[in-house]
Amino acid sequence: MSELPDVQVFRRYLESTSMHKKIKAIEAEPDILRHITRPDLERLTGMEFRFSSRYGKHLFVDLDDDHILVFHFGMTGYFSYYETEDKRPDHVKAEFHFNDGHLAYVNIRKLGFVQLIKDKKRYIQAQDLGIDPLEDQLDKETFFSLFKNKQGSLKGALMDQSMIAGLGNVYSDEICFQAGIYPGIKVNQLTDENLDTLYEKMFSVINQAIDAKAHPDNMPKSFLTANRQEDKSCPVCDGKIVKKKISGRSAYFCSKHQK
Ligand SMILES: [Zn+2]
Repeated sequence: MSELPDVQVFRRYLESTSMHKKIKAIEAEPDILRHITRPDLERLTGMEFRFSSRYGKHLFVDLDDDHILVFHFGMTGYFSYYETEDKRPDHVKAEFHFNDGHLAYVNIRKLGFVQLIKDKKRYIQAQDLGIDPLEDQLDKETFFSLFKNKQGSLKGALMDQSMIAGLGNVYSDEICFQAGIYPGIKVNQLTDENLDTLYEKMFSVINQAIDAKAHPDNMPKSFLTANRQEDKSCPVCDGKIVKKKISGRSAYFCSKHQK
């Protein structure tokens, strides 16, 4: 899973390992490159990562005003920084070599990509990304307005990148779980009280997940994320965790406190 909290953690990792180091060489597998070729990427040799930012599930790294790298991690992508060859991970799809180490973009599956752009704002518009809760400091009034005139399930709405950018299958479930609301409820059936709770839980889930370095084992015991398994006991009540297809994805929820 590479949703907003995960990508925020990847961003911090990149910042703590790879900023302001001169890129000696770059390698990449063609299938991970989007709209660029390997020679395009090789032209970045000699530059350095100057500034990073995140929007939704996308990580941006500015090299200079005209060259911004975009990383998308798909389901299984992450960064790994290593210094010696024996520490090099498997499934490296792209690699930035520095004088004293190497930043590897690792991805077991082919979902995810590396791209090179010039204009971040234009890219976000072209991708039809909605509001990023943290970057845009999504306020309650705007949150409420996003749900007005919206059709379909709550889970579908939370995962809709053109509405709120950054939430996917795992954290949309977690927000519904923490709010005690059934993820399959139709958006037009949500009360103002429901929306109020969802707004608060969205931020508390995102922030707690980032604090836990987006690793299920580090998350509070009361989180669904570490208990995403059918028939498992609910960590907050004595209900059972149920799996059901909602808006095309496998939703997990408690059969008792999320009716
Ligand atoms: Zn429960």
